[in-house]
Amino acid sequence: MEQNATALSDYDLQRYNRQMMLAGWGEAGQLKIKNASVFIAGAGGLGSPVALYLAAAGLGEIRICDDDSVELSNLNRQILHTDNRMGQSKALSAEQTLNEMNPSLAIKSFGERLDETNAARIIGQPDIVVDCLDNYPTRYLLNDYCVKHHIPLVHAAIWGLIGQITFIQSPETPCLKCIIPEAPPKEVFPVLGATPGVIGSLQAMETLKYLTGIGECLKGRLLIFDGDNMSFETIKVKRRPGCSVCGFDQADH
Ligand SMILES: [Zn+2]
Repeated sequence: MEQNATALSDYDLQRYNRQMMLAGWGEAGQLKIKNASVFIAGAGGLGSPVALYLAAAGLGEIRICDDDSVELSNLNRQILHTDNRMGQSKALSAEQTLNEMNPSLAIKSFGERLDETNAARIIGQPDIVVDCLDNYPTRYLLNDYCVKHHIPLVHAAIWGLIGQITFIQSPETPCLKCIIPEAPPKEVFPVLGATPGVIGSLQAMETLKYLTGIGECLKGRLLIFDGDNMSFETIKVKRRPGCSVCGFDQADH
């Protein structure tokens, strides 16, 4: 970990001027962002806008993990990557893009698939985790880790023109397994790049709100965006007493 900064530089004051004008943000909020760490699981459709907006906002340490390589069919939505990086590691491509976007940050990339054996080393103890994955087995692993280590998790998923997002902070909120007990079948699904653009931007916003302490996060609420008719709906979600991950007998003693 880097030494905690105690003040903003002239560069910071200029670069982040417009967001520091937000009520409740100011120099104190920017300093929190500068000293914060985030883990982004996935450098694909959701991971791209999440990582780009967090880097643009000056989030001090960004760890990003993806074991895939850049493919031509990714490029309609995965805007961290470019045509000339085809075949390269998405993790390294992400690191390169983020370093170009904001060279003042500590960017660490991991070209590995998250599993039980490497989760502690790769995820570490960040201030917040963002779920930008495309499969539920790894999402559940991430959920287990965050519940166990009391790390907030910004979950999202997309399909076609539809997306969902919620802010998980167990035991205050339900965990992912409470909300989605059974993994939907894995499939190659349709997606327009703008859909993860919308939802990933909301994930970045939730992350920055949480870290600076402004606004109200989507705790205990699942926001569903339907781009077909341009509706945003928020539904309440509850903890399940018998949840195998955060059930009352596991998490509350
Ligand atoms: Zn649960």
